[in-house]
Amino acid sequence: MPAKYIFVTGGVVSSLGKGLAAASIGCLLESRGLKVNLMKFDPYLNVDPGTMSPFQHGEVFVTDDGAETDLDLGHYERFTHAKLSRDNNWTTGRLYEQIIAKERRGDYLGKTVQVIPHVTNEIKAAMKKVAQDVDVAIVEIGGTVGDIESLPFMEAIRQMRQELGREDTLFVHVTLVPFIAAAQELKTKPTQHSVKELLSIGIQPDILLCRTDRFLSKDIKAKIALFCNVQEEAVITAKDVASVYEVPLVFANEGVDTLVLKYLHMDAKDRDLSKWEDIVHRVYNRKDTVTIGIVGKYVEYEDSYKSLKEALVHGALAHNLKLQLNWIEAEGLENCDQASVNAQLEGYDGILVPGGFGKRGIEGMLIAIRYARENKVPYFGICLGMQTACVEFARNVVGLAGANSSEFDQATPHRVIYKLRELRGVEELGGTMRLGAWTCKIEPCTLAHRIYGKLEVSERHRHRYEFNREYEEPMVAAGLRISGSTPDGTYVEMVELPDHPHFIACQFHPEFKSKPLEPHPLFSTFIKAAYEYGLKRKAEKEIAAVEMFHRPEKVARR
Ligand code: GLN
Repeated sequence: MPAKYIFVTGGVVSSLGKGLAAASIGCLLESRGLKVNLMKFDPYLNVDPGTMSPFQHGEVFVTDDGAETDLDLGHYERFTHAKLSRDNNWTTGRLYEQIIAKERRGDYLGKTVQVIPHVTNEIKAAMKKVAQDVDVAIVEIGGTVGDIESLPFMEAIRQMRQELGREDTLFVHVTLVPFIAAAQELKTKPTQHSVKELLSIGIQPDILLCRTDRFLSKDIKAKIALFCNVQEEAVITAKDVASVYEVPLVFANEGVDTLVLKYLHMDAKDRDLSKWEDIVHRVYNRKDTVTIGIVGKYVEYEDSYKSLKEALVHGALAHNLKLQLNWIEAEGLENCDQASVNAQLEGYDGILVPGGFGKRGIEGMLIAIRYARENKVPYFGICLGMQTACVEFARNVVGLAGANSSEFDQATPHRVIYKLRELRGVEELGGTMRLGAWTCKIEPCTLAHRIYGKLEVSERHRHRYEFNREYEEPMVAAGLRISGSTPDGTYVEMVELPDHPHFIACQFHPEFKSKPLEPHPLFSTFIKAAYEYGLKRKAEKEIAAVEMFHRPEKVARR
């Protein structure tokens, strides 16, 4: 049977959680035994978000096939089992790039190339491609209704309804119903205007997901239904929740899945959300807290590390812990005396240096890593966090003064991290990143082996620089363990310190593969080690306090 389509649009303001809404609908449909795929269209002109600043765009999510995509694809993967690739995220820029290439090749046989039908046809073809072999394809249109840039996408979904009919297409509109404190009232006007905007381009929404901070009364729902021309049952309260993983349950309570199935004339089994209920139960019943410090550079904008934050939450939930995450601006650790560094870092059960690009803050990261290494604080380095861990080790343990990555110091006497091409004398060309899934072979009897419980894994990459094997010998002699490499041995993928309770770093980004129902082992073990370290530290402090009380002269002598 051909797939049915759900089109998700957004109105009033951005950041209403359209991506989460799409992912949660996908999750609900999967819970009823249906197979789904999800895709996102981004109306901006960049070919992909790969070149955009994390401050502008948030995280760049990487798929197995190495596509640099919108962070909403991260939600899709965390909430469903859909297999995503570059086919699942299109921007206006990439569509036009493709259309212009066709035009130059003469594929349009002399015709005038226009938005309708040529651009809209490409959009529809992209939708149909991801809809193969699934029951339902959920298509999210980025931006807000009324944006000039999103018009061709809106037109394409309007045509899809025209082509496929009501039973095979569904329009879901995510909108805002704000509570106005001065009037002590929920206001429906923004939603009315947003739907009017949609109607003016020929789209009548079927379901309204109303973002609000409180439940919509029957009266409010009736009013919205009347003015927006939808069924009362299709006006859904999409209430704010404490955890994003609660959204599927909120939607289920409001009967979103039942409504979707009814409108799309589909049969499905009863929903089973028991695993999600368990996750949400854990969110509200945590036994203790674990405190992690992330030392990085984009720390003031949390969306830049979306998957990382979620992966840490998954790790914490796996141990029934509440995650207390503190973002530490790496630059703030530079030019401080040791006492101030200690004061800034000593409250953490674990320290993590995440991925990043550029020189700013590197010295601060090295200070944090040295602190973690010397004080035996659990450390987890990801991508840049592995590279900086190697630089720190080279400088402070091996004694290679001035060791660095050639990304930060071209003239360093010791390029422990470098671009492989630099040594081979090959000029840098575009598209030089190592992207997407690579196999990593794990050394037996290492921490990495204990964590993964297997000797071969596949993880996703997004970086240019690598560990320089020329420094392997002195580094290994000084106590660094290379615990993961590509099968041909070219690239180092994981390093660790055997004489430290938990010091591990990887060249890839495991956060992209962590899901609430399948927490990534690198994160869950890091959280466990951090929690245990925190308990030990607390116990030691208590013992010291007791000793201080009973035998202050002995403590003073220590
Ligand atoms: N800047 C480093 C590189 O390009 C690390 C990249 C990352 O952390 N994603 O290799």
